[in-house]
Amino acid sequence: MKQSGLYIHVPYCRSKCIYCDFYSGGASCADWQQLTKALLKELHIRRRELKSSVATIYIGGGTPSLIPCDEFRHLVNGITLEFGGSIHISEFTIEVNPEDVTEDKCRVWRDCGVNRVSMGCQSFVDSELLAVKRRHNSKSSIDAYGVLREYFDNISIDLMYGLPGQSVESWRESVSVAMDMRPEHLSAYSLMFEEGTALSVLRDKGRLNFPNEDECLAMWRILSERLRKEGYCQYEISNYALPGKESVHNSRYWYGNPYLGLGPSAHSYDGIDIRRSNPNDLKRYLSFYCADSPTDAAVGNSVFYEEEHLSKEELAEEMLITRMRLAAGMDTTEYEGRFGILDKQRLINNARPFIDNGDLIYDGVLLKLSHKGIMVSDEIILALSM
Ligand code: SF4
Repeated sequence: MKQSGLYIHVPYCRSKCIYCDFYSGGASCADWQQLTKALLKELHIRRRELKSSVATIYIGGGTPSLIPCDEFRHLVNGITLEFGGSIHISEFTIEVNPEDVTEDKCRVWRDCGVNRVSMGCQSFVDSELLAVKRRHNSKSSIDAYGVLREYFDNISIDLMYGLPGQSVESWRESVSVAMDMRPEHLSAYSLMFEEGTALSVLRDKGRLNFPNEDECLAMWRILSERLRKEGYCQYEISNYALPGKESVHNSRYWYGNPYLGLGPSAHSYDGIDIRRSNPNDLKRYLSFYCADSPTDAAVGNSVFYEEEHLSKEELAEEMLITRMRLAAGMDTTEYEGRFGILDKQRLINNARPFIDNGDLIYDGVLLKLSHKGIMVSDEIILALSM
């Protein structure tokens, strides 16, 4: 049985970045004690869904670096106790924002077992950060990185391209600053216009200027070429790592390992065919899990999550979407084992035009995107899943 991951969603942020559609509310009214109590209660009740040992923990959000030190200790102690007082975690990641990084917090995170930190820098150009309402500037990111470096030897930073006011030259500058920092891991995402975000509203009103598609492609090329020269491997379309520093937790998502997600809006997967999703409702989440009874009886047989049984077609599509984004590509023998010879033949038939034009590489077992194919990956993955 594949090992499991534990994800914890912290649903608070100081303020909302205009592009973000992650579930989070204002931190000024955060009740950290209640949240910790609810998360530990949810873990206690749902632990039985985990059929294998937990090997990775990822605390994301929202802004987990806002958790006060005492509550963070309480949360991690509670998780450890839930697993019988000892738990062997190979990778324990916390997402942080630069403005929250202090020596005290780093010490507590490290002492609690965190061994990987992922910091959202997004850009090293102040006007670009301001345009999307990030609360930090370039200098505070660099300073925070310096503090983190004293405590952690595995740091990931996030960058974004396609930001309002960003140019190919300003992007080159951000990539250069990132390379001077030399993080073990870098994730780079293109700005997405999610429905209902302030960003989409401003775009529709024509109030912001964005780089065009060709400029975004040029930015992607600059990043990819520079990082390759610096010794990073692009092991997933949006993720680069120095050798051996690939994200274990995220890689396990992509390979279909089971994981349990705690907190409002968190998702879980049983590693076979059941996905469970917690609703985006913090108030209801807290009242559901903070009932006074210390036993499972507090929630009786009712559950907070929504459950979905994935069909064979949905599982095949999910495998395609996640595996084709990986540098390692898709093992078509494994695909055949799960979905049958006919589905595999259809996949290879759909892939044939892209193999012939050099966008895909196929050695009889592994099917993967070529460097050229990565640039049109969405189109290819869509065609493969037809
Ligand atoms: S800090 Fe992160 S989670 Fe919070 S609003 Fe900004 S991007 Fe979203």
